Amino acid sequence: MCDNCFTTEIYQFNTYLDFEEFEHLLHPKISHNHIIASPILPLRHSHEAYKCSICHEQWVLSVPENAWRGYFLPLEKAAMFEADIEKQDKESSRSCIIILVIIILFIVAAIIN
Ligand SMILES: [Zn+2]
Repeated sequence: MCDNCFTTEIYQFNTYLDFEEFEHLLHPKISHNHIIASPILPLRHSHEAYKCSICHEQWVLSVPENAWRGYFLPLEKAAMFEADIEKQDKESSRSCIIILVIIILFIVAAIIN
């Protein structure tokens, strides 16, 4: 992280306008080679990856779409962020399965009685 690339981490774009404002900062940095686009997309939700030409920080951009709010983070933080999201998704799907099992047990109990 440096003044050449970015000094702010974005964990989510609150509005699409926020994302468009971010793009207005991003595109000049790409065209002036302050950051260099990488063809490798390292994470599940990554759409673009960049490397700073000065500090060599690797940045990952996830574009917001529908309910997904996107992010722009250094690679390590993006990986941790995505791991947290996956963990939350697993926990909520586990909760759904438990609720489904309880409903099925009530239905079976009602049929038996
Ligand atoms: Zn930098």
